[in-house]
Amino acid sequence: MQVRSDTYKSTVSIAEKQLLKQHQLKVTIFRLRLIAIFLKQNVAISEREIKKQLGTSYDRITLYRTLETFLKKKLIHKITIDKGETLYALSYSNLNYETSGIHAHFKCTACETCWCVPLDKEMFKYNYIENTFKIEEIEIIIKGKCKKCQTIN
Ligand SMILES: [Zn+2]
Ligand SMILES: [Zn+2]
Repeated sequence: MQVRSDTYKSTVSIAEKQLLKQHQLKVTIFRLRLIAIFLKQNVAISEREIKKQLGTSYDRITLYRTLETFLKKKLIHKITIDKGETLYALSYSNLNYETSGIHAHFKCTACETCWCVPLDKEMFKYNYIENTFKIEEIEIIIKGKCKKCQTIN
């Protein structure tokens, strides 16, 4: 007899497998585990946080290599703000935002949490930037207080 929790688990791993397939990556248990951690977060996370969530049962070199592979395949992207700790987040297009790829990072100055936030693609059209430069990468950092921290102060 199938129990409800099994059904849930298999749905979750379908999403993870799909992400690997979309990026032409072979399915491995570790890759699935790592994607599950990213899917669980709606914020960008550090390597330290990833290690914490993996617990003790992982290989450091495998983690390093998997992050490199995910970055190369653009399954995840790297964020560094003010020369601080490097953060990782799923690439924006995977989150089904219309803005596919173009987004900013919002960093809370109180709790230091970092979010990927949508930007309007049209912002870069028919204006000075598009007519003058060839854009290769867009990195926009917005700083302020997150919802939680606004209520504390
Ligand atoms: Zn905050
Ligand atoms: Zn981002």
